[in-house]
Amino acid sequence: TSLKNDISATDVRGYKGHDMLAPFTAGWHTTDLEPLVIQKSEGSYVYDVNGKKYLDALAGLWCTSLGGSEPRLVAAATKQLNELPFYHSFWNRSTKPSLDLAKELLDLFTANKMAKAFFTNSGSEANDTQVKLVWYYNNALGRPEKKKFIARTKSYHGSTLISASLSGLPALHQQFDLPAPFVLHTDCPHYWRFHQPGETEEEFSTRLANNLENLILKEGPETIAAFIAEPVMGAGGVIPPPATYFEKVQAVLKKYDILVIADEVICGFGRLGTMFGCDKYNIKPDLVSVAKALSSGYMPIGAVLVSPEVSDVIYSQSNKLVALETLKIYKERNIVEQVNRISPKFQEGLKVFSDSPIIGEIRGTGLLHGTEFTDNKSPNDPFPPEWGIGAYFGAQCEKHGVLVRVAGDNIMMSPPYILSLEEIDELIMKYGKALKDTE
Ligand code: PLP
Repeated sequence: TSLKNDISATDVRGYKGHDMLAPFTAGWHTTDLEPLVIQKSEGSYVYDVNGKKYLDALAGLWCTSLGGSEPRLVAAATKQLNELPFYHSFWNRSTKPSLDLAKELLDLFTANKMAKAFFTNSGSEANDTQVKLVWYYNNALGRPEKKKFIARTKSYHGSTLISASLSGLPALHQQFDLPAPFVLHTDCPHYWRFHQPGETEEEFSTRLANNLENLILKEGPETIAAFIAEPVMGAGGVIPPPATYFEKVQAVLKKYDILVIADEVICGFGRLGTMFGCDKYNIKPDLVSVAKALSSGYMPIGAVLVSPEVSDVIYSQSNKLVALETLKIYKERNIVEQVNRISPKFQEGLKVFSDSPIIGEIRGTGLLHGTEFTDNKSPNDPFPPEWGIGAYFGAQCEKHGVLVRVAGDNIMMSPPYILSLEEIDELIMKYGKALKDTE
């Protein structure tokens, strides 16, 4: 109350009883505190609505790493907003800035090889996405029971339901029915606070790694999907890991085939004096969350980086899903019947060209077709390879608007099953023209 009195006595800003809710903070529970209303930023400073200047020693909320009023960021945002304020990356659509940024991020993260980037709007959403991707990954591997996440007490991973569940701060759980049942918490690696008398940092780390292993064994390793950790805990009080901690923890996780997720939302992009926290503590994550300093807080953006091992499984599952849908379509459209309906016209139409003096044989079945160029209709009289008959024919096809496969003097075709009878006529007509040009 004395703080409240101080603020209202010295500085009446007129927003008492305001209309906003904020996650977990006083704003969520009460609006009777006067908020500090910030209006402007300039370099390392921010100014409130009364013009009072503050050195922003938290960089917004761990994010405005380049400070306020950085003209290059303002210019980049203005240019992009003018050019294309919104477009999505969905199906096969994307935008150049997203594609370029994915590449930049993957190149920048070198602690472990990363293959793909998934963009989000925040660090919280990045951590929610981690759960989604890891569940998908384990479903794809046929182990649907491997779904639990282990995080650490005092960790902070965000304000959404799942990221707050992963977080290990009681205030984020109480009254919200969290953490979600698939989230477990292991020790906070705070040596100063939690070490036993006479215990060295290394011994403390060994004990924590043992506790982690015991938790995994108690739950059943086959149920534990991933471990998530900030390289240095931020909101829990800025807690760097004790000596040998990540080395020992990672050895345990590896033993039980548990994915390592590095939450680099605060540590990423140079804050620790290395580009990422993983570089500093030799963490080899399978997945990484970034946000905040990614845009220096100028735009809400986060990302999940995914290792090739994980993304390969996700991709193969996506292919499987596409494959399943394809099989469904084949069935629905009675595709074999369709092929049999159109293929006689295709085969017979092309067979007409058997008379060509440069064709040795025309062969095929269904919607698969081969043409072989030889002299004298004989398999034993190939044209001199340097004449490049096949390649020339292929080029003529392309000129007339048909794509075929050329291998030496063999020409191959395998058109889509959806070919219409008119398209078969077109194909035969163009093939004929290309043949004329080649003869
Ligand atoms: N992860 C960590 C380590 C964080 O410190 C934070 C936010 O402070 C988050 C995730 C959540 O990020 P955001 O606030 O962008 O949702």
